[in-house]
Amino acid sequence: MLRYNADIKSVIYIIITSSLFVAQWVWIGMNPFIYTWFLFMSVTVAVMTHNHNHLPMWRSKTLNILTDWWLTVFYGFPIFAWIPTHNKNHHRLNNREGDHSITYRISEKNNFLTLISYPSVSGYHQQKAIFEYLKEMKQTNKEKYWLCISQYAVLVIWIGAFLLLDWQKALLYVIIPQQVSLFSVLIFNYVQHVHANEESEWNHSRNFTGFLNFLLFNNGLHTIHHHKAGLHWSKVPEAHAEIEKNIDPSLLERSFWWYIIRSYFLSIFIPKFRTNSMRLERMMQEELARKGKSSTSFNGHEEEEKITGPQPEVQVS
Ligand SMILES: [Zn+2]
Repeated sequence: MLRYNADIKSVIYIIITSSLFVAQWVWIGMNPFIYTWFLFMSVTVAVMTHNHNHLPMWRSKTLNILTDWWLTVFYGFPIFAWIPTHNKNHHRLNNREGDHSITYRISEKNNFLTLISYPSVSGYHQQKAIFEYLKEMKQTNKEKYWLCISQYAVLVIWIGAFLLLDWQKALLYVIIPQQVSLFSVLIFNYVQHVHANEESEWNHSRNFTGFLNFLLFNNGLHTIHHHKAGLHWSKVPEAHAEIEKNIDPSLLERSFWWYIIRSYFLSIFIPKFRTNSMRLERMMQEELARKGKSSTSFNGHEEEEKITGPQPEVQVS
């Protein structure tokens, strides 16, 4: 039934998440340990949503639709939205102009403020593409259109029903986890692209290579994901190992949490922990090359030699 046996892990995650939800609602109530675990499972829901959108888990259409619905209610947004914003846009433009989720829309900086404001800013700018996709489906593919609408319906009924049952519990066990799920995946997108070089073949993404990949379906290995979006998550580490040598070492982070602590907190006091923008470095180089070219055209051959000589190597930490 499963397209890849490795997705037994996704099925186990789905069972754990559903069980934790029921157990908290019916028996346990608020237990900080269980609740933290549940919020972590909400983060995994976002990752599973990403995986399932690229490569539906099941061979059966019905099981895929049921999984779409399950993911939608735990993710907190109709998951078809990934198709126009992620599959068709982000993967094509890869953080270049026109990508709805560009990391430098408001600022070229990479600090705590740009990090925490990114999910709202990016989420807002993705809405137009979602509605345009819906409009397009309505005209071109009625079946797909109704499947999208069914996700809205399932989500509204899910949230509405639990709010009616007990609004306080619904806030704790439905709405907050959904927001955590939505927020976390946009944070992932931000840290995976910010200050990388969107025009580079190998350095367009930051990779996280450590233990979190075991928990989060190898989601930290982002360069290879852009090169082979249809590759199943279980095959990604092997493919990453083949290309890792091409990636600038500054874009290979072992620990996600060390990157977060270092770049967004310690960097406030310790400048060497701030990331350098490879994108800005590239733009500076391009600007220098342009100036070089334009002055050669005015100043003749002698000047040309001076300007087109070897450029200093750019240090990016
Ligand atoms: Zn993707």
